[in-house]
Amino acid sequence: MNIRFIGRGNIEETGKDKKTVAKDEEICEEEVEEKPEKIEECYICHKKFNINADDESYYWKGKYPFCAHCAEFYGFYR
Ligand SMILES: [Zn+2]
Repeated sequence: MNIRFIGRGNIEETGKDKKTVAKDEEICEEEVEEKPEKIEECYICHKKFNINADDESYYWKGKYPFCAHCAEFYGFYR
């Protein structure tokens, strides 16, 4: 929105950009951020899996990749 000052304390809106402002918000929804795939080999079963998937998979001791299945099975070692 363009606002310019005229004289002492008088503000006039030019109204030039009003239409473009409203449209920008609709575009945002399609850009949902997803974690990039990172394929790791499970330390236990040697299955290849995406460690960034939204499941139980994690790095055991911050180093050894556990797939979702093994993470659940060996979860108590966490
Ligand atoms: Zn596994």
